[in-house]
Parts: sequence; structure tokens; C-alpha cells
Amino acid sequence: MIEQVYEKIYRCEIPLPENPLKVLNSYIIKGKDKAVIIDTGFNSNKCKEAFYHNLNRLDIDIRKTEVIVTHLHADHSGLAHELYRQGAKVFMSKGDGNTTKKMKEEKYWIEIGLQLKSFGLKVGEDFFDTHPGKIYAPSEEFDFTPLKEGSTVVVDEYRFQVISVPGHTPDMINLYEPKHEVYFSADHVLDPITPNIAFWGFEYPLILNQYFQSLKKIYSLKIKLMLPSHRKLIMDHKKRIDELLVHHQHRLQEIETILAQNKGDMTVEGVAKEMEWKILAKDWDAFPPPQKSFAVAEAMSHLEYLAHKERVHMSEKNGLVYFRIMEY
Ligand SMILES: [Zn+2]
Repeated sequence: MIEQVYEKIYRCEIPLPENPLKVLNSYIIKGKDKAVIIDTGFNSNKCKEAFYHNLNRLDIDIRKTEVIVTHLHADHSGLAHELYRQGAKVFMSKGDGNTTKKMKEEKYWIEIGLQLKSFGLKVGEDFFDTHPGKIYAPSEEFDFTPLKEGSTVVVDEYRFQVISVPGHTPDMINLYEPKHEVYFSADHVLDPITPNIAFWGFEYPLILNQYFQSLKKIYSLKIKLMLPSHRKLIMDHKKRIDELLVHHQHRLQEIETILAQNKGDMTVEGVAKEMEWKILAKDWDAFPPPQKSFAVAEAMSHLEYLAHKERVHMSEKNGLVYFRIMEY
């Protein structure tokens, strides 16, 4: 489905089958001599078909396009190599772009597996076999031009500023057109779902705090149309940002309550099991492995934040990370 959302700007749906996100909003800005495309869909036949169908409908030549990948997640980056091969120019942030390259190596997944084990998860041989980051990522290398805070993307009368918004991933970017007050929020601000804020390793410290800062950074911008990568368009970004900040405060409180009730040491999985998740699974054991890893990584980003605030105590024993409430 294609919907015009602003002058020369189209929201193009890319279905994400068997994924709770359901659909990616890929955006196309159709200029006179070139088109700018924001995000691609998975590296899968279904997504590829939908992507090219949208291009044909809008009569766009892939060789005259600039593809901007907002962050490394496969539903955004999956077809980058394919489009690059067909002649598109690909743009991405340096940090997320380089991680995309690493994610093609087995070593990356071994390290993620070890980290998840230290959080208490059982990670068998086949744990990542259905992980979108592994099965739907770009299958070949591609060159990209790095974008960073302050870079501009020009198409006809539009001058988009690149805004760096670390949080959902360590180096995610958004695009802002101040004159038109149009903002592409990728997975930074979503409605009604909430962006997953995952722990990415201690080399990206306090990622939840970075996310809060990135929300506050864009709060006062003049935005009349916010275009997110999933679900519905956002007309009142301040209201939605307030809601997201409250959501995470509730999450932090929920975790503190779980640890206070337990009184002793808990693993990250132990905490995640007790948290509430909006997922259609009868219990924790029925969570599909990717959802389990997202949930544990989200619990960990909040636990790390609470440890920094000295609300909880973090320790390590026999390769496992433990948390307990400060009073005990
Ligand atoms: Zn994402």
C-alpha cells in the first residue's frame, strides 16, 4: 500500500510476515531528478517484492535513488546490499553501518550468545536460527556513505538535517526538515507500540539514559508531522514523548518491585520472567527465542540504569550477572 503523506512524500508499506511489528513504513521522497528512500524491509523475497512493487507504482528508477538506512535492524537495512547492487547510493550512520558488517560474522553471534548466557538464558545451538538480525540481514557487503549529526540530505525544495538519536540502537539517525516541520523518527518514537531499548554491551554504557536524552533532544523541535517506521503517523510528538518517558519510569518501578519482593539475587532472565510483556505467548517458556532475547536485553538496559542510580546492586558470580535491591 502506498499513501501520500505530504507533498512528494509517500508512505510505502512493506509487510513483515510472522513478525510482531507487522509492517515497515518505508518512505519515499520523490524529487524531480532523484528519489530518497528511507529504510528497506527485510532481506526476504516478500519484502523485496513489495519494495520493487512500490518503486514501480511511483515510477522510480533505482539507479537514481539515495537509500537512507536509519539503523542496523534488519527490517530497516535488510535490502541495502540488493539496492546497492542495483545502483542505489546507500547512506547510513558509521556506528550502525559497521555493526551491520560485523553481524554477518559468526563471531558476533557467539558473543551475543555468551552475553545472553551471562543473563541466565539457555542459548542452544539453534537459538539464533529464527533471529531476524541473522536471517534477514543484508547477505552481502555494501558500501555506504556515512551520515552523522549535522549532515544534510537535499531533494528538491527539502533540506533534511540528520539528527543523531542513540538509544534504540547505538547510532540511529533521524531526518528533520525544519521549514516544513516534517520529521522521520525511524524507531525512536513510535505509536502505539513502544520502541525496544536493549542493552548493547558495556561498551555502549547507559543506553536507556542515552535514549532519554535523545527523546529530550527532539522534544522542543517544531514538528507538525512525525513519520515513524511502524504503525501510525504522529501528530503530537510531545505528547507521545511524554508517554514514552512515563512508560520507562513504570518499567523501572516494576523492576524495582520485582527485586524488592524477591529480596535476594536475581539473574536478568529471572527479572524479565516476572515483567509484563505484550506478547501472545502463554508463559515465559513459550516466548520464541528472538522475543526472549529482546525481553532480556530490555530488562538489562533498565537494570543497568537502576544500578547506575544506586537503586539496585549488580554483581557477578560464575559468569552470571546478578541484581538485588539496594536495601538487602
Ligand atoms: Zn528497530
